[in-house]
Amino acid sequence: MIRANDNYSKLKASYLFSDIAKRVDEYQLKNPEAHIIRLGIGDVTRALVPSVIKGFHEGVDEMANDATFRGYGPEQGYAFLREKIAKNDFQNRGADISADEIFVSDGAKCDTGNFQELFATDIKVAIPDPVYPAYLDTNVMAGRTGECEDGRYDRIIYMDCLKENNFLPGLPDEKVDLIYLCFPNNPTGSTATKEELKVWVDYAKENKALILFDAAYESFIRDEELPKTIYEIEGAREVAVEFRSFSKTAGFTGTRCGFTVVPKDCMIFNSKGDKISLHAMWNRRHTTKFNGVSYPVQKAAEAVYSQEGKAQIKEQVAYYLNNADIIRETVESLGFDYIGGKNSPYIWVDGKGRDSWDFFDLLLTKSSVVCTPGAGFGRCGKQYIRISAFNSLENVTKAMDRLKEALTWRSHVK
Ligand SMILES: *Cc1c(COP(=O)(O)O)cnc(C)c1O
Repeated sequence: MIRANDNYSKLKASYLFSDIAKRVDEYQLKNPEAHIIRLGIGDVTRALVPSVIKGFHEGVDEMANDATFRGYGPEQGYAFLREKIAKNDFQNRGADISADEIFVSDGAKCDTGNFQELFATDIKVAIPDPVYPAYLDTNVMAGRTGECEDGRYDRIIYMDCLKENNFLPGLPDEKVDLIYLCFPNNPTGSTATKEELKVWVDYAKENKALILFDAAYESFIRDEELPKTIYEIEGAREVAVEFRSFSKTAGFTGTRCGFTVVPKDCMIFNSKGDKISLHAMWNRRHTTKFNGVSYPVQKAAEAVYSQEGKAQIKEQVAYYLNNADIIRETVESLGFDYIGGKNSPYIWVDGKGRDSWDFFDLLLTKSSVVCTPGAGFGRCGKQYIRISAFNSLENVTKAMDRLKEALTWRSHVK
């Protein structure tokens, strides 16, 4: 009898985006003339920049000619791309990472989800709340949790991110083995300083733990003092893996390319307590289960690091950050508390005790603006909404004008 992985039945059905779509559709049906502006989904809206398109085209043209055609490439990615990543994203920032520690992939969602395969099922896992759902769900699928009650899985150590701790998780009370961190954060947009990350690196070293650091939004960091990679922190090479993506940095959400950094100094332990190279394990996993990112896509990613590419990408990120500024100013002028939007495309707005779905409905019905209810990211998001800066300047400006009109002088704004 072919039996199912019972752990899948523990997963909470995520109705977040379908619930949002349903409410939006119903509203549109009742208000056919309403122009709905979507500031909900975490997807980019602007076209790939010209230098990326040029690299992409060159890659395609090479595939059209026997002399330059490429078949299977190295599973870990072409050296031309790995070297540029190591130099530009790490070495130039004083982070000691070499090209052979970079594993190119089809995106950070797969990597953040797949990486947990390398660890035993009975380790203790610490996950922030609110959180990007892939970290949690993949651990559920792997059998690292008990059942879900009251929105929380047994055996997961949740790290609450609240206003009281400035949305930065504190060290857990009990000893943990695996820690997920994401800065700049999705959904809250919060960031962590070098000193704040150092606390985690020191904790991991002391406890023989490992940090899985998601830096998908590093290109949105404007503050020069903030670290863009965890490897700017002393000792991180021994205890941290970093996930990166071209998705938000360069608009690759539909093109698909990212990478994972696994330093050779990272050691994990077998049941006898012997050290095992994490780099060797991930290399084995990657070469067994993955056959590389398509050549034209890697050429497109390489172009991100050309001189023109860098300038064009910077301009594109600045465009979204300008939207974020407009959203922040509006939210602030309306008297709401918020975090994010300074070094992140997301603004996490406190609904002043309002349930996040009620807040969502209020924005939809009063201003035809769609946001994301915080409850979809975890229990700690229940009284927040996430507003995204991924849209056109015109739409963001219009949406914020409508919010100002709808929410000013109204009694429901306490
Ligand atoms: C968007 C995002 C990613 C990137 O996902 P891709 O699969 O590379 O598109 C990773 N982590 C977080 C937190 C994200 O929001």
